[in-house]
Amino acid sequence: MAIDYMFYPTRNVLESEEETKFRKEVRKWVLEKVYPEADRVEHEKLFPRHLFKEMGNRGYLKVLFPKSIGGTEKGIKFGIILADEISWCMRALTAALDCSIFCSIPIMRFGSEEQIKKYLPGILSGDSIGAIGMTEPGAGSDVIGSMRTIAKKDANGDYIINGEKRFITNGSEADIITLWAITDPSVPGHVGMSCFIVEKDFEGLEIVRDFNLMGVYGLKNTYMKFNNMKVPKENLLGKEGMGTKILLDELDSERTLAAAGATGLARRALEIAARHANKRIQFKKPIRNFEAISFQIADMAIKLETARNIVYQAACTIDAGLNASKISAIAKVYASDIAFECAHTALQICGGLGYMKGEWDEKSGKFLLPDGSQAYVTERIFRGSRLSSIVAGTNEILRYLIQREVFHEMQLKRPSESDNWGD
Ligand SMILES: Cc1cc2nc3c(=O)[nH]c(=O)nc-3n(C[C@H](O)[C@H](O)[C@H](O)COP(=O)(O)OP(=O)(O)OC[C@H]3O[C@@H](n4cnc5c(N)ncnc54)[C@H](O)[C@@H]3O)c2cc1C
Repeated sequence: MAIDYMFYPTRNVLESEEETKFRKEVRKWVLEKVYPEADRVEHEKLFPRHLFKEMGNRGYLKVLFPKSIGGTEKGIKFGIILADEISWCMRALTAALDCSIFCSIPIMRFGSEEQIKKYLPGILSGDSIGAIGMTEPGAGSDVIGSMRTIAKKDANGDYIINGEKRFITNGSEADIITLWAITDPSVPGHVGMSCFIVEKDFEGLEIVRDFNLMGVYGLKNTYMKFNNMKVPKENLLGKEGMGTKILLDELDSERTLAAAGATGLARRALEIAARHANKRIQFKKPIRNFEAISFQIADMAIKLETARNIVYQAACTIDAGLNASKISAIAKVYASDIAFECAHTALQICGGLGYMKGEWDEKSGKFLLPDGSQAYVTERIFRGSRLSSIVAGTNEILRYLIQREVFHEMQLKRPSESDNWGD
């Protein structure tokens, strides 16, 4: 589909030729297949399941997986390109994609041969969708310390799980869920927690309802309960008590992809703002001629370029097999903060039009403005980007982790009351 659009350049000297080629290919697919559906997904709050199959056919779901299990082993740098390009157009698809992938990465790393053979081909082909089940009504940021979902062994060594999970992305659409539960309540959560692979048809799994979200329409976010749900012993991931290790293992990649998704939103916001500032005439001039506007465009570009570089640094660190916990947290905090700031600025630069959702036009499948042009998507980006600072670890929790790393790296112990505070 040819669209009249002026992209903000994404060529980055840090990106290899192969990565840039991949970006071009993904962008072409996004424009042909995702862009035409973006408004309808928003309007009808449709879960874009068929696009998973498309991504599977194109090999996009394989980039983080090794060749030995059917992946293409391209690495997280390819993952951030996908997240950035797709998020630019349909935030719901990136969020759903991230959760499906991060449901399966623990299976890839800690699963038995049988588990890998049984569950991963479906995810990599896009036929199955995955979800990650951690958060509970009483266990949010303190998910490890406050988890109440309990898995008890029965006489055959299988597990009976009772409890509830909320805010689970893809929950009602998922074919499999990697689910965390307490197997030993007599010890602290970080040693008493285990991880299970749960299939959607397991008896006792109750999808209570999907939540009504502020934005990112099309994403399914679910409240579920487990009522004496029987999970065969073969579906324990790794060993009992390994839940925390499995959880922490995937977080750096999850945060880096979440950050890349945020840069896609920030880029779209910048593009809309720059185009609008260029063509909107007030006081007989394009509004870009007013420094109050053009400097805001400059600030958006500064933030976006900085975020993209940090995200790239986090991805390179992970691909190099190095410890990425601080840099991935920095990437996630910064990119999500600036995505919302850029959305806010773009909305302001677009003035009243920025606040418009437009009228739904069934024939074109688009939201249209009163003059028949396509609605601006600033309000959608504004709502969508607000999510990024809450998921994959809230930005407050991540700031806590970052400062802890800083003090640790500088070997600065917490001073006691009796210490001399002079420098
Ligand atoms: C759309 C959406 C999708 C989600 N998808 C998933 C999913 O797929 N799987 C899943 O398991 N979960 C998912 N979540 C849950 C998400 O991970 C949690 O919302 C998040 O971890 C925060 O938990 P909470 O909402 O209970 O907030 P709380 O933990 O109650 O926090 C409330 C506020 O207090 C702050 N706070 C808490 N503790 C501290 C502290 N020690 N220091 C400073 N500030 C603190 C938080 O940063 C936050 O601002 C999703 C959430 C949303 C909204």
